[in-house]
Amino acid sequence: MTDATEDRPGPSLSPGELERYRRQIIIPGIGERGQGRLKAARVCVIGLGGLGSISATYLAAAGIGYLRGVDCDCVEPGNLNRQVLHWTPDLGRPKAESAREKLSALNPEVETETVRLEVTPETVGEAVGGCRLIVDATDNLATRRVLNRFAVEQGIPFVFGGVEGFGGMVLTVVPGDSPCLECLFPARDRSGEREIGVAGPVPGVVASLQALEVIKLILGLGSPLLGRLLLFRGLDMTFRELRVDRNPDCPVCGPARRKR
Ligand SMILES: [Zn+2]
Repeated sequence: MTDATEDRPGPSLSPGELERYRRQIIIPGIGERGQGRLKAARVCVIGLGGLGSISATYLAAAGIGYLRGVDCDCVEPGNLNRQVLHWTPDLGRPKAESAREKLSALNPEVETETVRLEVTPETVGEAVGGCRLIVDATDNLATRRVLNRFAVEQGIPFVFGGVEGFGGMVLTVVPGDSPCLECLFPARDRSGEREIGVAGPVPGVVASLQALEVIKLILGLGSPLLGRLLLFRGLDMTFRELRVDRNPDCPVCGPARRKR
């Protein structure tokens, strides 16, 4: 299907890695072969805020071989209720620097690279280049549209996550196999242009789900959220699912686009 899910054995594991990842290697369906696939994977997390703090942490801990984090901002006091990769002593530091330090300390086996870059149509190739999976951990729809378009054009799976207040949502896009983010949000949307409130644990929930989707995609296990928008409502503690259909006229993944 894609590079991320090709049936390749992956590199062999050192005794230290076998010990570190023991509790996931013993999961039926993973084994040393699956762990090797995680080690061979190249994933980028775009945004190192509330969502990216969590997804990058779990992906580094899981032994993703190459992990790139991209963020252009510095740590501000208002980030600290939810952006758990950044601590009070990090105030004023670039998030890219603070994140690289924590992720490398968590798992030195992972090649962690962080880039201080704003993702735009001009820079998205630099941000994502060489990675085979994209985690959307941004906080605005404009950047997500840029990522979605790049992912579809390049055939790179893309895991979208969004949060607001006490709730959030997750959708996985596998180009060619599923609707894309533009199919879900077809109109120009104003969201993301205003500051939104977020309860700290909410990005923790959503980004954990995103990290799990990434791990499943790499391992080729289970059913990803393709065409299924998972909605989480923290206030009543419910999850529900909305079907997302492919928009036949989608300017990103529709036939008009594909013909170009
Ligand atoms: Zn689409």
